[in-house]
Amino acid sequence: MRIKRLEIYGFKSFPYRVVLPFPPGISAIVGPNGSGKSNIVDALRWVLGEQSLKRLRVRAAEELLFAGDHGRAPAFAEVRLVLENDGQAPESLRDLPEIVVARRLYRSGESEFLINNRACRLKDIHYLFLDTGVHPRGYGLIDQGEVGKFLEWSPEERRFFLEELAGVSRYRVNREESRRNLERTRENLARVEDLLAELE
Ligand code: ATP
Repeated sequence: MRIKRLEIYGFKSFPYRVVLPFPPGISAIVGPNGSGKSNIVDALRWVLGEQSLKRLRVRAAEELLFAGDHGRAPAFAEVRLVLENDGQAPESLRDLPEIVVARRLYRSGESEFLINNRACRLKDIHYLFLDTGVHPRGYGLIDQGEVGKFLEWSPEERRFFLEELAGVSRYRVNREESRRNLERTRENLARVEDLLAELE
């Protein structure tokens, strides 16, 4: 899934809607110190479902909302990520040319995730990006000083990374979910058998 553009509104240092297009090829974001380059990466990480405030470089969720002067305080922060659908998306979204993932945080503290304007769960966002490397902890986002981290990872962490790269994570998640369903069905069956035995 290729990122086509990122739209930021009311998030950190962006009081007005900013649209950042990412044409095919390499894009670089340049600017003076403190101009908001890392805030763009934070916006990307946030819309992909990052839950850790530390990784978003804030102490409290409200710090994600624009707090500057500019004579305005937007009622909410919103980041929208527009992706080109190359067929990697889950089945229900496979025929759509574009996938738009959005995350909103209101001053009241309420927040929501949306996929193509439909409210969804964080789990749906995670599932959407499985195997694409585009999730907040995926291989697609490498922080300053993190290049050498691969060497420090445990074998489990390395395996997780390689599975993601090989595109098998989605199957692992599906397998685990099926295993849980199977277990639940087995328990239900045992209960039904007990009831039947009581009735006999
Ligand atoms: P450097 O090159 O030094 O790493 P940068 O371009 O990555 O800088 P950022 O860290 O993205 O800069 O942006 C820092 C700026 O964002 C600071 O000026 C800070 O005041 C501003 N900022 C962060 N959160 C908010 C917020 N909630 N409201 C308004 N401004 C904010």
